[in-house]
Amino acid sequence: MPMHMHVSSHERAWLPAPNGLLEPHPVCRTCGAVKNISSDRAKDVGYYANVLSEIRRYLESKGGKLSQAQIRLIMRELESNEHFTDTYTILGSVQRSMFVRVVQRYTGLSRSLIESFL
Ligand SMILES: [Zn+2]
Repeated sequence: MPMHMHVSSHERAWLPAPNGLLEPHPVCRTCGAVKNISSDRAKDVGYYANVLSEIRRYLESKGGKLSQAQIRLIMRELESNEHFTDTYTILGSVQRSMFVRVVQRYTGLSRSLIESFL
């Protein structure tokens, strides 16, 4: 989990948005982190737990297997990664590629198969 729950202050950081124009971004009043306000938003870990269940059902329908132990290891690694769980700042695309890397490490599934569930 993140070190703390980010809480936006009244301050705004003027930073370029994906369209190249400057836009006001909320800033955490505790640590100064800038909130990701683009459309490329991160999801909470519950979303990724559901994705793993879907992958598991898919593999079982094909006679393959994703064990509870593998799922637990993957979730533990994701949940203990402060950057991954920091949905205030991380980009959705960065979070998804971290997920793919961790799942690959524990399962050996292909990148394209994992991405097809995201
Ligand atoms: Zn903060």
